[in-house]
Amino acid sequence: MKWQGRRESANVEDRRGAAAAGGAGVIIMLLRFIIGRFGIRGVMILGVVGLGLYMVGVNPVSLLQGQSASTQQAAPADDNTSRFVRVILAETEDVWSTLFGSNDYPEPTLVMFSGSVTSACGYASAASGPFYCPGDKKLYLDTSFFNELAERFGAPGDFAAAYVIAHEVGHHIQTVTGISNQVRSAQQRAGNEVEANALQVKMELQADCYAGVWAHYADRTSKILDAGDIEEGLRAANAIGDDTLQRNAGRRVTPESFTHGTSQQRQDWFTIGYRNGDVNRCDTFSAGSL
Ligand SMILES: [Zn+2]
Repeated sequence: MKWQGRRESANVEDRRGAAAAGGAGVIIMLLRFIIGRFGIRGVMILGVVGLGLYMVGVNPVSLLQGQSASTQQAAPADDNTSRFVRVILAETEDVWSTLFGSNDYPEPTLVMFSGSVTSACGYASAASGPFYCPGDKKLYLDTSFFNELAERFGAPGDFAAAYVIAHEVGHHIQTVTGISNQVRSAQQRAGNEVEANALQVKMELQADCYAGVWAHYADRTSKILDAGDIEEGLRAANAIGDDTLQRNAGRRVTPESFTHGTSQQRQDWFTIGYRNGDVNRCDTFSAGSL
C-alpha cells in the first residue's frame, strides 16, 4: 500500500503499554488464553506447575505480577504501526463520510492496546482479536494481531491489516445505520443458538462487504493500493473463515457453530463490495447463502 505521508486520523487512542488491570487482570487474561488454546487441561497443568513452584518456595502469583509490571512501559506514539493505523482509519473516514454525505458520518475512535483492555463491552484480552464495541462506538485493536495474521494465519502484508481495520469500521457502519440493533432483536426473538449464529454470520459477511466497498474507493479514488493488495486482503479473509479456523485447530467443521462465515463466503462478500463500491449490494440478509 502507498500509505506513507498521507493524512493521519486524530481519532486514535493509544493505550499500548497501559495494562487494563493489575496482576488480577493479567491472571484472568492468561487463564482465558490458556483455556482458549489448550482447554481446561491446560489450566490443570498450570495449576500443577503453580503448586510445584509454591512448594519450592516461589509464589507463582507474584511471579505473574512481576511480569505485568515489566510490560507496562509506554510504547512510542509515533512508530510505524501507529502511523499506519492512523492513516488507514483516516482513509476509512474519507470514504464513509463521502458515502454518508460529509456531515452525517459520526467518526469512530480506534483504541490501540497491548495485552488487555477495558471497553464499554467489558474486559478483553489480545486473545479475543480485534473487535468493535457498539456501546462506546470504538474499535479495539491489539496491534500484535497484525503479526499473528502474518505468522499464525499466513496472511502477511499491509493490506491484510487494513482489511481487518476496515472490517471493524464495517461494524461501526452497521451500528450507525441501526442494522446491528435489528440483528440483535432478531437474535433474541430467534431464541436459539443455531439461528442466532446464522444471523451473526450475515452480520460479519456484511462487514466484509463494507470492507470491500472501502477497498473499492481506496483503490479508485485514493489510489492507495498496490498490485497484489487485494490478493493480500483475500488471503486474510480466507485465513479467518470459520471452517479454516476450525480445521486448523484440529476440530470438526460444524457449520451451525459458525459466527463469521466460511473462507469462501468471506472472500466472496469482500469481492462484491470491492467490485461494485455500492453498500446496497452488501445486503447479506436478503441474499441467499452464497
Ligand atoms: Zn466482525
